[in-house]
Amino acid sequence: KANERESLYLVSEFANTYFQKVLHKTDQGRSIGLSYFKERGFTEETIKKFDLGYSLNEWQAFTDEALKQGYNIDYLAKTGLTIVKEDKRFDRFKGRVMFPIKSMSGRVLGYGGRILIADKKAAKYVNSPESDIYHKSKVLYGIYHAKQSIAKEDNCYLVEGYTDVIQFHQTGIHNVVSSSGTALTSEQIRLINRLTKNITVLFDGDAAGMRASLRGIDLILEQGMNVKVCTFPEGEDPDSFAKQNTLEELALYLNENAKDFIQFKASILFEDSKNDPIKKAETVRDIVNSIAKIPDRIKKEIYIQECARIMDLSEEVLFSTLAQMDKKEA
Ligand code: ATP
Ligand code: MN
Ligand code: MN
Ligand code: MN
Repeated sequence: KANERESLYLVSEFANTYFQKVLHKTDQGRSIGLSYFKERGFTEETIKKFDLGYSLNEWQAFTDEALKQGYNIDYLAKTGLTIVKEDKRFDRFKGRVMFPIKSMSGRVLGYGGRILIADKKAAKYVNSPESDIYHKSKVLYGIYHAKQSIAKEDNCYLVEGYTDVIQFHQTGIHNVVSSSGTALTSEQIRLINRLTKNITVLFDGDAAGMRASLRGIDLILEQGMNVKVCTFPEGEDPDSFAKQNTLEELALYLNENAKDFIQFKASILFEDSKNDPIKKAETVRDIVNSIAKIPDRIKKEIYIQECARIMDLSEEVLFSTLAQMDKKEA
């Protein structure tokens, strides 16, 4: 089994070298992949740092090359780089720009591949499937490049996408990772927890995903970590925002707009519901439910006081709601 995992690592590593070679050394790679990255504002240095690549727009160019180099079709199939259907073989990432996903120690575990031309029939991003080396719920994109900076800054920025991580690096902020397409999991948070107790979640400026993401944040509180959140102007995400600003401007924006999570949640939910008693009651329960996740009793108490103030309720009623929830948990 250990041997088999090693073989999967070797295949992934080979693909990583191959996709970069295609990006830099082939006409198609340069004219399509490389110019795509350049248009997004990525420098040559950034492209190299993140091992960005390109997969030719052909049915089995990668698979053929890998087989020619002696890699076993079983391992190509198990990493998902090749899709095997009966006697046919297809490159999973055909015609996509490639983002290798690395472990904490820098080994290539899997890939995200982005389509270049918007197409209603195809997913914007395709990811490697689960394998013996790639467990998407246990991986954070960018962790290898971020770990030192996370420890040093004693804070981790959590963003939604690959390009957000990359653009932040290029702008000069290195303590940033992304859960990339999966809802945040406890295992991912535990990876960060080894490096810092402080997470700042950066949402895209589209309201859609926000409500859902708020749930994931309770998982961070559960691990006794401190959470702040920061939103971006309508239509912007961390990538597009960083691209338009200098490091100083970005850092200033983050410092001025990062809000304590509980306060943030209380204020946005409260804004929505203050004129509707039934909604307001739900909101109160929702927030107290988040506070209930915090292991530290002193912090709990401070947040209850805060929320009572924001929502114009007595502390007493919030404390008794909290007590009921604690009872249910137990
Ligand atoms: P880009 O700037 O390249 O359009 P993004 O990172 O801003 O990408 P979002 O639409 O904000 O993309 O989505 C955030 C993340 O969710 C992506 O980086 C990707 O990991 C994942 N994702 C988005 N769309 C899909 C999809 N169709 N299938 C799988 N994962 C996706
Ligand atoms: Mn989005
Ligand atoms: Mn985005
Ligand atoms: Mn984006």
